[in-house]
Amino acid sequence: MAALDGLPPLREVIATHGLSAKKALGQNFLLDLNLTAKIARQAGDLTACDVLEIGPGPGGLTRGLLASGARRVLAVEKDARCLPALEEVAAHWPGRLTVLNADALEVDPLAHLTPPIRVVANLPYNVGTELLVRWLTPSAWPPVWSSLTLMFQREVADRIVARPGSKAYGRLALLAQWRCEARIVLTLPPEAFTPPPKISSAVVHLTALPEPRFPADPQVLSRLTAAGFNQRRKMLRAALKGVHPRMEALLEEAGIDPTRRAETLSLEEFCRLARVVADAG
Ligand code: SAM
Repeated sequence: MAALDGLPPLREVIATHGLSAKKALGQNFLLDLNLTAKIARQAGDLTACDVLEIGPGPGGLTRGLLASGARRVLAVEKDARCLPALEEVAAHWPGRLTVLNADALEVDPLAHLTPPIRVVANLPYNVGTELLVRWLTPSAWPPVWSSLTLMFQREVADRIVARPGSKAYGRLALLAQWRCEARIVLTLPPEAFTPPPKISSAVVHLTALPEPRFPADPQVLSRLTAAGFNQRRKMLRAALKGVHPRMEALLEEAGIDPTRRAETLSLEEFCRLARVVADAG
């Protein structure tokens, strides 16, 4: 029986096109179209938006996005086996779906879309955080996208929305909350996916703020947070030693005790330190 959108059910699509899931590509597919429609809804009203989807796979979420009225969807998929299934979806929604067979880390699909742009994806776990960090650290702000609605492993989602002092607080929380409003909008058990992963997943919705909460250079902040949390048990003067030769003095200048650890620093303090480091050259 056809699904609500008139296309074949996803199990049938997978069988017809031989899309057995590949672990190396992070392939855990969503086959319930009610669920993919629900995820699409978390992104808000898409009717006037271009949507970037990374990793459409057999097209479950893509179909949810198109059915919910997205003006246009650009879907970037690395696995060429998925292309015939995605071509069927594109033919069903003429002129609204473009599929790019590429590695999302190697292309800049945002450059091909017209604002307002929303990014919606069930991300492959192996490139998810790298893509998120790239979307969060362009040199200019506001970015070309207005929101990101992204599925991650639950543990990664918790790190994005974590508050200072908590175990999950770190680089992702700082970079995300510096320039965005971030919240978990949906959690999904392993059984929602085929094949089921070992752990739960969650959808995080990030809305770009008109401007960052505190001024800082994104590259410097990115370097400081990476170094600080790479060795999170170390004191800042040791953990950040590689970032600047006069780091201990710069920490003092920023009013931060060099014996503190990264996890005790607020976003405001990290941004202040980033400004002092940038000024020091
Ligand atoms: N969106 C589909 C769904 O929800 O059922 C599939 C999600 S699955 C978790 C991740 C998808 O990303 C797979 O289709 C995989 O082939 C694709 N993928 C993995 N690495 C990629 C990369 N570097 N660039 C683009 N797509 C990638």
